[in-house]
Amino acid sequence: MLPPRKVKFEAKKRERENLEFRTFLKCNADEKELDEQFAALHEELFENYDCNKCRNCCKMYHGSIPTAEIEKDALYLGISSENFIEQYLQGKDSEGNYQTKNSPCDFLQTDGSCKLGECKPENCKNYPYTNQPERLWSLYSVLDAVGVCPVAFEIYERLKQEYGFRK
Ligand code: SF4
Ligand code: SF4
Repeated sequence: MLPPRKVKFEAKKRERENLEFRTFLKCNADEKELDEQFAALHEELFENYDCNKCRNCCKMYHGSIPTAEIEKDALYLGISSENFIEQYLQGKDSEGNYQTKNSPCDFLQTDGSCKLGECKPENCKNYPYTNQPERLWSLYSVLDAVGVCPVAFEIYERLKQEYGFRK
């Protein structure tokens, strides 16, 4: 597995090959079988991986907080919803989620944990989505994750091997 600091650089180097593999999958992969392959690699590679030693996803993106979770998150931090928004958040994205003011995310703590604890948004818990269904229709999202997440990078490399892909 690549060290987290090298993922962006290595993904950039393989950008063309990775796009070609995406096209290969679109033309050749079976949707259900591909989901099973993604899910199996996701489970195997995350099983012993300590995300607290990486946190590239929290460092390279703004946090995205659904409007419906503001009250719960504010309560968790012991402040009012108004203070929560004022202190940590800025405008909403196209899906109606608030963005954190900063990237790295404002809730990332120095030990790699999230200040929101178990209240962290589902999108954070599910990242990099490699065990989610319908990967064949979300391969651009997979490619985004390949440039951020060492596990997603490794999953994509293993899939190339499984499919015997040569550029
Ligand atoms: S999900 Fe991926 S990018 Fe995020 S901390 Fe874990 S290994 Fe790193
Ligand atoms: S809310 Fe927490 S888990 Fe999500 S990006 Fe921010 S620090 Fe990471």
